[in-house]
Amino acid sequence: MRRLLIVSNRLPTTVQERKGELHLEPSVGGLATGLSSWYKSRDSIWIGWPGITGKKIKREKDILAKLLSENCHPVSITQHDVEAYYHGICNRTIWPLFHHFPLYTEYSEGFWQAYERVNTAFANVVAGIAKPNDIIWIHDYHLMLLPKLLRERLPKATMGFFLHIPFPSFEIFRLLPWRNQILEGLLGADLVGFHTYDYAGHFLDSVHRILGYEVAMGQVTAADRVVRADAFPMGINYDLFSNAVQDSKTHAERKRFHKKLEDCRVILSVDRLDYTKGIPQRLEAFSAFLDRNSKFLRKVILVLLVVPSRTRVGHYIQLKKQLDGLVGEINGKYGTIGWMPVWYLYRSLPFHSLAALYSLADVALVTPLRDGMNLVAKEYTATKMDGKGVLILSETAGAAQELGEAIIINANNQEEIVQALEKALEMPEQEQIERNRIMQKRLRRYDVVQWANEFMDKLLSTKKLQQEMEEKTLSYEMQRKLASDFQESNKALLLLD
Ligand code: UDP
Repeated sequence: MRRLLIVSNRLPTTVQERKGELHLEPSVGGLATGLSSWYKSRDSIWIGWPGITGKKIKREKDILAKLLSENCHPVSITQHDVEAYYHGICNRTIWPLFHHFPLYTEYSEGFWQAYERVNTAFANVVAGIAKPNDIIWIHDYHLMLLPKLLRERLPKATMGFFLHIPFPSFEIFRLLPWRNQILEGLLGADLVGFHTYDYAGHFLDSVHRILGYEVAMGQVTAADRVVRADAFPMGINYDLFSNAVQDSKTHAERKRFHKKLEDCRVILSVDRLDYTKGIPQRLEAFSAFLDRNSKFLRKVILVLLVVPSRTRVGHYIQLKKQLDGLVGEINGKYGTIGWMPVWYLYRSLPFHSLAALYSLADVALVTPLRDGMNLVAKEYTATKMDGKGVLILSETAGAAQELGEAIIINANNQEEIVQALEKALEMPEQEQIERNRIMQKRLRRYDVVQWANEFMDKLLSTKKLQQEMEEKTLSYEMQRKLASDFQESNKALLLLD
């Protein structure tokens, strides 16, 4: 099997600084957790930022040696570039724009220069490690210039890119001052993958309209190569979540929660703190639901789990304040001495606590305004061993394309969310089971390993296609013979196909 180089902004292992000492800890997040067993079973190397600046890592030789022993190769980023690249262009420019929030988008030449510098630093490390037969798989919006930078150094490389966030429609994408560089950057890969066909379509549309390249059937004919774009909806580690329900640690957590929640029906909401997740709209809809359904007062609890995120960015600080206010208002308006309608947790929960909440929740209310995929919707469904539970899912989450048996809503339509909650809480058990079984079958079959394998297969078939097309072009000898035949002929008939 060919060696695999996975490249992403963060390594699967993060270096944490506590009381002046450096420690290694597993990174949180879908990619590293989901792919851990898959990539460890292959001959593979992971290249990324370890979470602290290059200077510190170089000083601590033990930590560096440990990282390398786990096949993790760190890329050095200076403190200045962490600010302008990660906290700057990634979180304040690309993230909001690609999630259709142009008014939250900051355009700064300084940010852009840091983006170029960091992508170049990644290219230097990858090019130093890569061997001719390696497969290179680059991940996400932090590294969109990297495919082209690597292609210039490794023209023959087999290279795929996967975008984990939405690709916006042309009218939004064109607002970016560096739109040409981003598209050219991505086209350095042989295969560009997205969660949905819509995102792939938006990308191809922008390639055609901005760069003028010919686009047909998911294929771009760039200056000298053919590049493919396609949809690969990322799956979850299905067995991890479905098996967790049987685990004794999950049982214990479930019991603990049950005691506190008493006989109330549970509506669950789980997100990182992010304006793309539509959390205020969700809370307002829950308030409207209580207003209209007095029979559910003291009978239902919304467990609102919000994981802190990007706590230094202004829009996130404002959002946190808004949520605190809204939760206070709802609990103040409807709560009683023995009953709080919203159970608000602002922290990250360990795996078994989260699995316990998923498995006991009667309803999962997943209403992002825009979300590349949304793994929470899939994880919730996977834990429903008895098939009971209802998923309410926004149509603007990538996951909605695969989970059509959920109650699908428009996250901006409060009336639709209220009606969905009413429907979910009244839904007959048999219907819940039927809907969940269909979704579970799909999620089990197309899990995260299947996702990675399909991406790899398509990448290799794209490479083969490129080779076949190269063979069809005339060899140098043939071109010379044709030219001399042409010069010697008196009357030439040229047939061009
Ligand atoms: N998650 C977690 N701890 C928590 C809450 C959530 O580890 O307390 C995980 C959850 O299991 C899921 C991820 O965070 O895998 C959220 O992924 P999603 O695609 O829903 O949203 P993202 O945060 O990537 O935008």
